[in-house]
Amino acid sequence: MGLEEKLPSGFLLSTVEQAAGWVRKSSMFPATFGLACCAIEMMTTGAGRYDLARFGMEVFRGSPRQADLMIVAGRVSQKMAPVLRQVYDQMPNPKWVISMGVCASSGGMFNNYAIVQGVDHVVPVDIYLPGCPPRPEMLMDAILKLHEHVQNEKLGVNREQAAREAEEAARKA
Ligand code: SF4
Repeated sequence: MGLEEKLPSGFLLSTVEQAAGWVRKSSMFPATFGLACCAIEMMTTGAGRYDLARFGMEVFRGSPRQADLMIVAGRVSQKMAPVLRQVYDQMPNPKWVISMGVCASSGGMFNNYAIVQGVDHVVPVDIYLPGCPPRPEMLMDAILKLHEHVQNEKLGVNREQAAREAEEAARKA
């Protein structure tokens, strides 16, 4: 009996997926993108005291073309929304989004016409982080949870399409 017959079906594929997930989560590059007060906590998280470099992400990239993680740190104004979307579109796939703070996630205290009431109206969000502002420990916790998600993500999934389908299914339910 050959080796392939002894292995459980799907063994090779899941091993490649696991390896790809590990590589992706271990070398994430966040985009340099701060919108309001939450960005101060994000910057602190990247500095020496909290040391994001421990998780393979010491470099915040100046160009979205070199970034695969968008941390939306602060409230999103209506004027900024198309710019944010453009930055997101310029990031290569696969890419992930953390909505940092209550303002980015839901508009927070800014319940008015000038502020987008949740950045998920503009880009798909992977992790919603509560708080005003969330402390660096909370941001690191969100990043580690995202790492877990990335580690187990299937290869070749069109995430925006999957999000749209999930939304559609939820609407029908
Ligand atoms: Fe500022 Fe709080 Fe809103 Fe963050 S959640 S942008 S700290 S007001």
